[in-house]
Amino acid sequence: MKSINAGTGTVCLIGNPTVYSLSPIIHNYGFGLHNINSVYVAHTVEDNYVKEAIYGIKALNYVGCNVTYPHKTNVIPFLDELTSEARLIGAVNTIKNENGKLVGYNTDGLGFVEGLKNRGFDLNNKNICIIGAGGAARSIVVSLIKEFDCNVTICNRNIGTAADIMNTLNIDGLPGRITACITPSQLKALCDINVFINCTPVGMSPNEDFIPFEDELVLDESMLVCDLIYKPYETKLLKKAKDMGCDVHYGLDMLIFQAIIAFKIWTGKDLPYEQLELLLKRQIY
Ligand code: NAP
Repeated sequence: MKSINAGTGTVCLIGNPTVYSLSPIIHNYGFGLHNINSVYVAHTVEDNYVKEAIYGIKALNYVGCNVTYPHKTNVIPFLDELTSEARLIGAVNTIKNENGKLVGYNTDGLGFVEGLKNRGFDLNNKNICIIGAGGAARSIVVSLIKEFDCNVTICNRNIGTAADIMNTLNIDGLPGRITACITPSQLKALCDINVFINCTPVGMSPNEDFIPFEDELVLDESMLVCDLIYKPYETKLLKKAKDMGCDVHYGLDMLIFQAIIAFKIWTGKDLPYEQLELLLKRQIY
């Protein structure tokens, strides 16, 4: 984007807080790269203004928006259409304004799977343990069982949330399946796990010195260990796994690929992974 003028399109982020988000950096870089006359801004929206914010996208003819914590579910009643992915997950992180029709997408889990594939990881025939059962875990489980012939175990403090994911997502016709829900105390008894994925905020800056369920989590060097946290770039969990000889997968890749997919939804254009990784690592370190 060379300058802001009367023809400048707007894409925004809706969440609370939004001040630490890296999305404006990613998407404004993309608009500049492709010489698109649009701008990406962050709007902090309180719970009682979610409806007005979403209707504002339509009223002001924004190109679209991202949605982040805590509004990914709250926005759904005000949208005109949902993709099948977003409906299954029950949450939206990307909205496109299609000539006044607001379509809700979820690119979080897709971004995680694209990141794995980009690094050459194939999760077919793998036994995967997801730690955590919040919104991110749910979006990842949906994408994993749609993409790979895999078995998923969900481990969460609150077993009810994990069971809810299992009960709503075991759908005939998908290649993968959720086979068990467990509490952290049962982690030690798990055998044959090939992949652990941390979907909790444990280990996130500024509380970097923690590993989720450290006393119960048993790792060995044959495993792939993934973390969704991208600040710090390398969490204590990933450092421990790497030191043991495990393959590791960083949360920054999910952030980058969910954004690449969202940018394509709004503009039809691709963003370059390598340049974004460099750009964002400079922000995180
Ligand atoms: P969420 O909906 O709030 O869910 C949090 C999950 O973590 C819940 O299952 C919760 O368990 C568990 N949890 C929270 N604190 C815990 C603790 N101290 N010990 C053990 N378990 C704990 O959050 P979310 O949206 O799923 O996000 C989860 C993580 O993923 C965050 O760190 C977020 O930054 C990251 N994330 C990264 C990306 C990316 O692009 N890389 C995208 C989305 C999210 P209970 O159910 O028992 O409370």
